[in-house]
Amino acid sequence: MREVSMAMGKTGLISNIQRYSLHDGPGIRTTVFMMGCPLRCAWCSNPEALTTERQLMIFEQKCTLCGECVKVEPSISLDGQLKVDRTKIQDIEALASSCPYDVFEIIGEKMSVDTLVKECLKDEPFYRQSGGGVTFCGGDPIVQADFLLDVTKKLREKGIHVALDTSGELPWQQWKYLANEVDLILYDLKFFDQQRHLQYTQSDTKYIFENLSHLAQLGKELHVRMVLVPGINDDLEDIQKRCELLRSSQVHVTRIDLLPYHELGKGKYARLGLPYPIKMEISCVSDIEAIARQVESYGFTVVR
Ligand code: SF4
Repeated sequence: MREVSMAMGKTGLISNIQRYSLHDGPGIRTTVFMMGCPLRCAWCSNPEALTTERQLMIFEQKCTLCGECVKVEPSISLDGQLKVDRTKIQDIEALASSCPYDVFEIIGEKMSVDTLVKECLKDEPFYRQSGGGVTFCGGDPIVQADFLLDVTKKLREKGIHVALDTSGELPWQQWKYLANEVDLILYDLKFFDQQRHLQYTQSDTKYIFENLSHLAQLGKELHVRMVLVPGINDDLEDIQKRCELLRSSQVHVTRIDLLPYHELGKGKYARLGLPYPIKMEISCVSDIEAIARQVESYGFTVVR
């Protein structure tokens, strides 16, 4: 997974820009979803942003079987039902624009530094009024760290607050300048337990844990985020070890967000032609209050 880091020069690949976000840092924010991620979390709600290649979403239920797409893309068949062999698509753009009913959506837009800065600055009045700013998430934005470093510098020259939502799972060398440049880091801590981390994210914790020490040396403010998946990573023992890790690394944590698991991204997997990774049924719910008390006992401020 580590080879995911990308040399895209001054062009970034963005899956979505969400305006008026209220949960990705202080105030009203513009959240920019970057493509590419070193992890493969079993509960990921943004599977369209996992790789640094454009993706095709297919909204099959919108199809009227009109036949327009077949004229440009011979790999499609309409035998009473839309059938697309994704491996044989020749021209994704021609296909997407052929359909009058918006059945096809291409995810992944290339943008220059200046274009993305301009997009973000459209919301500047909201940042000023609310103490908000711009948050980069994904995927994991550190995959495109070189590009975002330039974007961040330009935003901060204009006095815009910038936050980075990351797992930290790439070598420090690859994103240290970006980490230094942003105002706030939203740091995702999914497990302390190595084996479960590997099982559910297909990656170990080496860089995630190491980078906490680097962030501590920078004195960078962190909001730690813990997505709680019932029966998978919400046990008090693992939460306790994560708190101890944060304390021992001496990183500057100003709050810990407890985020309940949801399945809002499930429909995207089908539209991307991917299986949903969590095979087991999640039937129980996390005891958020007990977890919050555990985290607060380490002196952290909890937001849930
Ligand atoms: S053009 Fe769109 S609506 Fe028509 S058959 Fe193709 S996918 Fe279906």
